[in-house]
Amino acid sequence: MPQNTAISPFDLLSPCSLCELRCQAARLDCEVGPCGAGLEPVVYSRMLHFGEELELIPSYVLNLAGCSMACTFCSEENHLKPPFAGESMSPEEWALTLKKTLEHSKPAAKTLNFVGGEPSIHLPFLLQLLEHLDELWPAHPRALLNTNLYLTPQALQCCRGPFAIVLADHKFGDDHCARTIARTPRYLEVIQRNLLEVSRWPETQLIVRHLVMPGHLECCTEPVLNWLSSELAGAPNLLVNLMTGFVPFQETTASQRWHRLDTAEAQHAKTLFNSLRVNRKLWNGGPPVA
Ligand code: SF4
Repeated sequence: MPQNTAISPFDLLSPCSLCELRCQAARLDCEVGPCGAGLEPVVYSRMLHFGEELELIPSYVLNLAGCSMACTFCSEENHLKPPFAGESMSPEEWALTLKKTLEHSKPAAKTLNFVGGEPSIHLPFLLQLLEHLDELWPAHPRALLNTNLYLTPQALQCCRGPFAIVLADHKFGDDHCARTIARTPRYLEVIQRNLLEVSRWPETQLIVRHLVMPGHLECCTEPVLNWLSSELAGAPNLLVNLMTGFVPFQETTASQRWHRLDTAEAQHAKTLFNSLRVNRKLWNGGPPVA
């Protein structure tokens, strides 16, 4: 399996350039950037989970605190800014804990799912953890990076090999929406560059999720699906999941007042989904609708 050895993820940690905010925080000296991440990630919950795409479940999910984006509808709002509460261990201890927890679990986990917050802001730690796990338990569940994909090219290269699956969100189809909803600059350039890159890794499964946001079908859903159809249609490792279960978790604090998807919007999303041309696609995690 190709593995990038040219770049050490620790070189990207201090000054930090793991994500495209490139804030240069000296994380090895305990400086904290806008993502809130310290040196060791805090896992605020972990469980066997059945709410992912069918081929990924049961999936053992680890939720890591902190995020490089700041979506106003985020369901994990309480775990995005320090101080964080949860479990903190060394990579060796985590590898041992995961082996003990999962080796004989029934049902067996198919995937080891690193989620957030945003897991890639802890990339050097996760790569160490996986290295130890490979040694301790070579047959461990496939590692899955469940990510916003807002990584620098150097950080992204470090993911090739250790993560068998990259599950990436393509949230916004418009940079203005990304800036105003998620305080994220240069969104399209970064996400689409990184999606194109992972689509060229034949050994890595690429799953792209798009969550339909109310009031954002023309500016976000339509351009995202058009781009996937035109740029990634031929990618053999690609699966796209269109999701319509939007829940406005932060409606009282958000600058926008979110509502739930109405019937006309859900119908519009279905029409757009039916015209999506990619190798494999799912509607809300299930088979395509007629
Ligand atoms: S991962 Fe965090 S510390 Fe690193 S560049 Fe991004 S915001 Fe800054």
